[in-house]
Amino acid sequence: MLPNFPDLTPNRLAIKVKPSIEKIIRKGHPWLFEAGITKQSGEGQAGDLSIIYDNKKNKLLAIGLYDPFSPIRLKVIQFNKGAKIDENWFAEKIKTAFDKRESLLKTDTNSYRLINGENDGLPSFIADVYADVLVVKLYSLIWLPYIKVIFPLLLAQTGCKTLVLRLSRNVQKESDLLHGLADGQVIHGVLKSEVVIFREHGVLFSANVIHGHKTGYFLDHRENRRKVGQISKNKTVLDIFSYAGGFSVHALAGGAKEVTSLDISAQALEVAQQNALLNLKKPNHKIIVADAFKAMQELIDQKKQFDIVVIDPPSFAKRETERSKALHHYRQLAALGANLIAQNGILVLASCSSRVSATDFFDVSIEALDRSNRKYKELERTTHDVDHPIGFPEGAYLKCGYFQF
Ligand code: SAH
Repeated sequence: MLPNFPDLTPNRLAIKVKPSIEKIIRKGHPWLFEAGITKQSGEGQAGDLSIIYDNKKNKLLAIGLYDPFSPIRLKVIQFNKGAKIDENWFAEKIKTAFDKRESLLKTDTNSYRLINGENDGLPSFIADVYADVLVVKLYSLIWLPYIKVIFPLLLAQTGCKTLVLRLSRNVQKESDLLHGLADGQVIHGVLKSEVVIFREHGVLFSANVIHGHKTGYFLDHRENRRKVGQISKNKTVLDIFSYAGGFSVHALAGGAKEVTSLDISAQALEVAQQNALLNLKKPNHKIIVADAFKAMQELIDQKKQFDIVVIDPPSFAKRETERSKALHHYRQLAALGANLIAQNGILVLASCSSRVSATDFFDVSIEALDRSNRKYKELERTTHDVDHPIGFPEGAYLKCGYFQF
């Protein structure tokens, strides 16, 4: 594998940090920002093994990988005690991650996230499985010295026949350091088609693993989609920000009377239609290509209502400065949603903004629902499915609430 990729040997660095940061690392937080470093034994390169020593006794505190391209200068991969970061170490990490997904893999599902970055101990490293295709997405160059060891282990653990590499924009920018690696490169095996068909609780979907968002699909909402599918029988459903129809197609497969998918991307909606056709000969599936905020108001003006409305927008706040605008959007969406729900209907509100806490999201949503002058009760709040374990506070981005009117 990777015959033309050089064997990169990472250097070792010794690092000291501010006492306040020591405390954070002791608690198991994997991010060390540039400003927290007080001493460093040399100039580091991407992926260098960096040992953090404590200030009092000079004892090993953690081992991290050095990232000169990110304000998060070091991503910790090993806490409290030393370890040889070798093939066995990686195999153990991958096995532990695989075991956590065991319950999901017993269901009629052959698509899952095997490695969820920091949350599975491998920061900035994502590995998603779609049937027999493994898609690895690297969000940092720190992994370059290790991929030759990690990739075969991932294939062995998953039984996948093909490995596709995806690179984040930040990684793609450093083309001089990539030794020919490219976004969308097939690293191992044959990719028969860039569109891969897979199952999610018995429902068929497709992902474009080369050109799709992230690794091609959003796996984190799987359990919420299953729930929507289960409550959709004979219902009318509106799926706003539908992307490839994650919720819509589960609703159709669950026996919905009529499903409308709404997204600003015509291309995404085309995939949603294809996904519906994978499951039903004649799905009653309508699409609306439009800006969600405008189109929802138009539907309200036309006095349209639906038994189930799902609102799962893109992240509105990736940065702290975007928080208040994001909250404003969530407030607006909940208010619009409340007007589109038929009597006894269920409104599903979701947020994937990492900078908006669950408390803030539910507070503003409920505030808007209360103002709608309609009676409702909150049924449930949920988070990520089991293949997206949460290992540190920033890892918990997904929140979802169910409200019956
Ligand atoms: N609910 C989807 C994931 C949503 S991803 C699922 O279950 O898989 C966010 C989607 O919002 C993308 O498809 C994007 O095209 C769409 N989008 C972004 N801004 C939009 C807007 N203003 N109006 C409508 N759709 C928008």
